[in-house]
Amino acid sequence: MIEKAFIELISKENADIRLDEEMKSHTSFRIGGKADCLCSVKDVDSLRNIILLCREHGVPYFILGMGSNILVSDKGIEGLVIKLEGEFNEITLAEDNIVRCGAGSTLARLCTFARNMSLGGLEFAWGIPGSVGGAIYMNAGAYGGEIKDTVISVDYMDKDGNIRRCSGEELDFSYRHSAFTDTENIIIRGSFRLEPGSHDAIVERMQYLMDQRKTKQPINHPSAGSVFKRPENGYAAALIEECGLKGYEYGGAQVSPKHAGFIVNDKGASAADVLGLIDHIKKEVREKKNVELCCEVRFIGRV
Ligand SMILES: Cc1cc2nc3c(=O)[nH]c(=O)nc-3n(C[C@H](O)[C@H](O)[C@H](O)COP(=O)(O)OP(=O)(O)OC[C@H]3O[C@@H](n4cnc5c(N)ncnc54)[C@H](O)[C@@H]3O)c2cc1C
Repeated sequence: MIEKAFIELISKENADIRLDEEMKSHTSFRIGGKADCLCSVKDVDSLRNIILLCREHGVPYFILGMGSNILVSDKGIEGLVIKLEGEFNEITLAEDNIVRCGAGSTLARLCTFARNMSLGGLEFAWGIPGSVGGAIYMNAGAYGGEIKDTVISVDYMDKDGNIRRCSGEELDFSYRHSAFTDTENIIIRGSFRLEPGSHDAIVERMQYLMDQRKTKQPINHPSAGSVFKRPENGYAAALIEECGLKGYEYGGAQVSPKHAGFIVNDKGASAADVLGLIDHIKKEVREKKNVELCCEVRFIGRV
């Protein structure tokens, strides 16, 4: 329960405040209980003031991107869920071939901007849902590319409200991991070094990869993408399928009949259903294949 006085203080900032916000409206899984408060912040000064107020009042906060890689608890999220909007959506061509993009922008807008400038390097990301902040945090990747291949620096706000810059090398990127994983730092914007290329070739590659996704993935069903990280020497989807779990249902959650690496929510699943299905899949794959699967999707909220 957040104090009224705290809400009054953050309401003075350049931010939209919504109390008891249903998180199922803000996640690609369409699952999740209520956040005590969803705060859509429009500028850096307001973000700083809000996180400092959170610290002063002992209110926890969580930074939400587009909610495409999270499973939110049925019991909701305590404290503030912060979304970056307004100036955090800006995209500019900073210097030749370097695009600077706010963390709140969708990755799709960044890819479109690059394509319109005939700059290549982000084609792999076309079709990955989510924000630029989420893509940097997760080191999102597909079809042989990863965000780390193009990021040259990231500006972030530390827990004291200072803006700092980190070079690509300092970001400790690895498979679905960055230096931001499990820290309180807030990604503000990233700079991406791209390559001039043929506009037609860029468009063609993006279209090809999107077609691949449409053919292989249940992109029109609520999900959070691949639930598990790729284990060493194999693919989670293949292991799950070999265990006979394609299409397997647990409550309202189902292993996608199209792609066994995805869990889909076509039948009003709860977070508890998804967690139950994850446990079942892990147990089967452990027993039948002797492989320990690790989750890529992040569980957020009250336990
Ligand atoms: C249909 C589908 C297909 C997908 N395909 C792919 C794929 O091919 N490759 C891939 O890598 N992923 C894929 N994903 C997963 C997901 O889209 C990516 O992980 C994406 O980068 C998450 O971004 P987001 O903005 O939605 O992050 P969220 O899910 O909102 O958050 C993820 C994490 O990032 C943190 N975060 C977000 N923004 C910030 C910020 N500004 N500062 C600090 N922390 C932040 C959050 O706190 C959270 O811990 C897919 C998902 C779906 C639904």
